[in-house]
Amino acid sequence: MVHPPSSASARSSKSSNDFSAPALRSIQFLTLFPEIIAPALQASLLGKAAQKGLLSFGVIQIRDFSTHKHHTVDDTPYGGGEGMLLRVDVLHAAWKSVVGREGAAEAGRRRTILMSPQGPRLTQAKAKELAQYEELVLVCGHYEGVDERFIELCCDEELSIGDYVLTGGELPALVVTDVVARLVSGVVGNEQSVSRDSLEPGEDGVALLKYPQYTRPREFEGLAVPEVLLGGNHGEIDRWRRAQSLERTRRKRPDLLP
Ligand code: SAH
Repeated sequence: MVHPPSSASARSSKSSNDFSAPALRSIQFLTLFPEIIAPALQASLLGKAAQKGLLSFGVIQIRDFSTHKHHTVDDTPYGGGEGMLLRVDVLHAAWKSVVGREGAAEAGRRRTILMSPQGPRLTQAKAKELAQYEELVLVCGHYEGVDERFIELCCDEELSIGDYVLTGGELPALVVTDVVARLVSGVVGNEQSVSRDSLEPGEDGVALLKYPQYTRPREFEGLAVPEVLLGGNHGEIDRWRRAQSLERTRRKRPDLLP
């Protein structure tokens, strides 16, 4: 098992809790459905990150690497059973095309991850760990899953986005991408806002939910913005926010508190 490089990044992060300045610069997808993934990479902050050159994305069609008749990519499981499995030879060839190409990250700085309901669940802490790699290769399974030998030969880990089963790994891979991308310096406009998000550990190491926030109008349908936020006393505002964060973490997510 390869561990995250400790100081892999030449890029400096201005984030206050930057024990882990992200090194991430490339995310590669192996998929049978590029048409699910490509549009999501072009929109909003991911699209801007690519335009600004902060991250580069590659979407590889697994089917292009089939040498079989009709570009078949799957087959029935040995021993019988339901469904079709993605073939190891096709997946391996697709994976090789990514890791062997020019400009690819060295093996120790790359992480190949199979999206799978069998992996540990994605968390903010896991996302920070993954952002330490220069390159992530996200493999999207389909049908009944993949031949076990592909996992053994090529995957560093499996990762789930939750305890439910999707039809394919494309949406999970996009979830992972979105979560890790916003940790990369410059992807989200205001870095302070990332370090103060819900579930981000504070200086004491405890992750709290974010305090309630308001914008104009000052009053709506009889509901007024809390008076303390209008006064401009920043000490008082900070104390109020901290208290609100604690209160709502206790109420909504007591499991986060020590
Ligand atoms: N038969 C498999 C599930 C196949 S689901 C099993 O029982 O383990 C088809 C594909 O969808 C998987 O290969 C995986 O890539 C993806 N997938 C489904 N649920 C997922 C989840 N919760 N997290 C991440 N990927 C998932």
